Amino acid sequence: MSLDGTYDEGNPFALIIAGKIPSTKLYEDEHVLAFLDIQPQSKGHSLVISKWSKARNILEIEPEALGQVMAVVQKIAVATCKALNPDGLHVAQFNGAPAGQTVFHLHVHIVPRWEGQAPGFVAHGQGHFADADALRALADEIRAQL
Ligand code: AMP
Repeated sequence: MSLDGTYDEGNPFALIIAGKIPSTKLYEDEHVLAFLDIQPQSKGHSLVISKWSKARNILEIEPEALGQVMAVVQKIAVATCKALNPDGLHVAQFNGAPAGQTVFHLHVHIVPRWEGQAPGFVAHGQGHFADADALRALADEIRAQL
C-alpha cells in the first residue's frame, strides 16, 4: 500500500482499539493507547497509537492527535528507560509500504537498544555524504510546501 488509500477498519490496530483482538497494554487514556509489539525488535519494543484518529500515516493525522500520541511516546520512553535501562532508544514511524509500513494505522515505535545489539532500522545513510548544493535545493523545495 502506498501513501494514498483508504483506512481499513479491519487493520490489527483498529481491532485492538475495538477490543476484538488482545494486546499487551502499557498505557491507555481517552485518546491514546500504548502496547508492546508482538514481533519485538528488542526487549521492550512498544507502539503508540491514537484511539480516535483514522489516519494511516503522518500525512493524514490531525495535529491534535499527533500531539497526543507524541506526548505518550515520551511518557513511554521515560518509563521504558527507567524500567529496562537501555543504552539507547529508537523512536521510529513509517509511512507507506516502500518505507517499511505494514500496519496502516499511524503508530510510533519505541525500541530500546543495547550496546552490541544490531540496530535494525538505522537513521543514517549508507556512508556517503550528500552534495551541499543538492541539499540546499532540496530544502528549498520542501520549505516551499510548509
Ligand atoms: P510497521 O512496519 O511500522 O507498520 O510496524 C507494524 C508493527 O506492528 C510491527 O512491528 C508488528 O510486529 C506490529 N504488530 C502487528 N500486529 C500486531 C498486534 N496485533 N499486536 C502488537 N503488535 C503488532
